[in-house]
Amino acid sequence: MTKPALSPTELTELIVGINRLARNLWWTWNQEAQEIFHELSPRSWQNLYHNAVAVLREVSDKELRVRLQDQEFAQRVREALHKFEAYLNEQDTWGRQNAPQLQANPVAYFSAEFGFHETLPIAAGGLGILAGDHAKSASDLDLGFVGISLYYREGYFQQSFNHENWQIEVYPLLNPKNLPVEPVLDAKGEPVIGTVEIAMAQVYFRAWRVNVGRCSVYLLDTDLPDNEQRYRDLTLRVYGGDSTTRIMQEILLGVGGVRLLRALGIEPSVFHMNEGHAAFLTLELIREKLAEGKSFPKAVAATRDQCIFTTHTPVEAGHDRFSRDLIGYALFKMHSQLKLSVSDLMALGQVEEESETELFCMTVLALKLSRAANGVSELHGQVSRRMWQPLFPKKPVDQVPIGHITNGIHLLGWMKGPVRRFWRRKLGPDWEKNINATEFWARMADPEFISDEEIWALRYKLRRELIEFTRRRLLIQGQRLTVGDFIAFDHLLNPDALTIGFARRFATYKRAPLIFQQFDNVVKLAADRHRPVQFIFAGKAHPKDEEGKRYIQHILHLSKFTELKDHLIFIENYDVHVARQMVSGCDVWLNNPRRPLEASGTSGQKTACHGCLNLSILDGWWREGYDGSNGFAIGDDSHPDNVEEQDRQDSENLYRVLTEEVIPIFYNRDAQGIPRRWIAKIRQAMVTLVPQFNTWRMVQDYAQKYYLAR
Ligand SMILES: *Cc1c(COP(=O)(O)O)cnc(C)c1O
Repeated sequence: MTKPALSPTELTELIVGINRLARNLWWTWNQEAQEIFHELSPRSWQNLYHNAVAVLREVSDKELRVRLQDQEFAQRVREALHKFEAYLNEQDTWGRQNAPQLQANPVAYFSAEFGFHETLPIAAGGLGILAGDHAKSASDLDLGFVGISLYYREGYFQQSFNHENWQIEVYPLLNPKNLPVEPVLDAKGEPVIGTVEIAMAQVYFRAWRVNVGRCSVYLLDTDLPDNEQRYRDLTLRVYGGDSTTRIMQEILLGVGGVRLLRALGIEPSVFHMNEGHAAFLTLELIREKLAEGKSFPKAVAATRDQCIFTTHTPVEAGHDRFSRDLIGYALFKMHSQLKLSVSDLMALGQVEEESETELFCMTVLALKLSRAANGVSELHGQVSRRMWQPLFPKKPVDQVPIGHITNGIHLLGWMKGPVRRFWRRKLGPDWEKNINATEFWARMADPEFISDEEIWALRYKLRRELIEFTRRRLLIQGQRLTVGDFIAFDHLLNPDALTIGFARRFATYKRAPLIFQQFDNVVKLAADRHRPVQFIFAGKAHPKDEEGKRYIQHILHLSKFTELKDHLIFIENYDVHVARQMVSGCDVWLNNPRRPLEASGTSGQKTACHGCLNLSILDGWWREGYDGSNGFAIGDDSHPDNVEEQDRQDSENLYRVLTEEVIPIFYNRDAQGIPRRWIAKIRQAMVTLVPQFNTWRMVQDYAQKYYLAR
């Protein structure tokens, strides 16, 4: 009798290991780990939307045991687990060398949303994605870091459309059993329960832990039977409900978050507020210090000393404001615990502290109670200093204490399979080691290291993957499944054509339909037989944003009923997965916000490692990234104050760059059919942008400029 490949002990070890792997998001940025879940059940992998936990629930224990007797498969599992353990246990890390004090007393990073992966849809847009990427890089760097957010059981909505192309929001209930989350339990195995006072009520919450590599992110959840329904529903939806719901969610996040950390015995050295939503954490820190016997001014000073604040937008609606009545009502118990009158409490969130009319602003509270604050790009830093100068009446604008750290992305989390395989082929199994380093990307300038032909082949592969993804999606969107439809959809889009992508939240300042202001011209470009251009759009409008929904409706209309049909596609239900397909497969990434309202923008940063070029207004990060040869600029480093004038100029400039630069360079081919100048730009984009606009650099900047500096 031959022995089975694996001993029962090792079999059990591997099964425990796979289960552990599925519940740590590390697998989302490791290709070999992903392939294990994919291979276990290719169809479930696709249908369950790349959900490792759900795939494991689909594959029985019995099957798993048998499958692991396949030696080749078992070997791959072993290797992935080995790599995972090595990652978790590595000692020689940036964090241990450069921020050892944060190991025992971490940074507590509070954010109303976190975007990690398509299986955990609790982010509304770029702010959440940034928070997720921040956590992943904190883990990679081994920085002492813990995240706090809310467990929204219906998440952010799924996008659907009625027959008038009007966006409809659908809210499926998430099942924690199928998510990469674990209940937070005490030593006795019971759920840890915290409380927070909201209005007249004592509200109970539990927590879920998301394992992000070495770091934990805790999600607070009020859906407990001891709470009244209205409080159970505080954690129903991301930014759901009216301003009463909003302030209550924010009390839960800020005050509840601090209490959870205390209950877990975590003593942060820094509290980082990612946007003003979390600023009530400062009130809880003050309350704690008063309870220890400190005077109010001393408690405020000590709290300021612990807090850091990042502001994310110059757009007014992005700054929560609450009325005196709402503050008095929702914080009813807090203001008596702080021994403050409602007016004194109001003053913490007001520029004019005695004002009877000024609303309470979360950004003001955060700025007043932080030892340091920053915007998310150089220009956004300047704009924020001007915007909040009234809070610092003695300081001229340029001395307002708001700095900047430009946003980035978590490179490995965004890099698509073909690009990873390309690098592995070039550099071998340890290719990921210095992925964020300037030297790593400098190779891309060298035609000896990589030829134009190889780059072009990679671009073709990525474009085809996007087009085939789009065809599958459109088929599902149409819900038309006759054979004829399959054939029709299989001819959708042109794999040789210059493909321009635009995908992000449909906030109006991002001006999604700007390019179609030149409708007749754009039709001509799209219909050009020799140099065709095609467009892929995606994005969600906030459920209450009528104007944003009109923008989508307009684009859907153009894509279905005009000459742009077949040249313009709208992919429904934009999320991290759609984003990954688009930023890798498009040739050009279009970004045309109304300057200077795009504080940073990050989607364009996801494109460079895939060889997709940015075509953008010089706003946010692109103003710093663009060097004249690594992509395209719409307009220059200025903008008119008049909005209509700006829209007109930008639309003209956009069309001009497209026709005078983008299209000619893309279609200028040599005898081998290669667009040499285009590829030179791709090389330049990889060399200059990738090592700069990533969260590896960004989190180090936060550590050195803010977390560690006093
Ligand atoms: C990157 C990303 C964003 C941010 O896009 P911007 O262009 O910065 O607005 C929004 N949503 C998703 C799903 C993303 O992946």
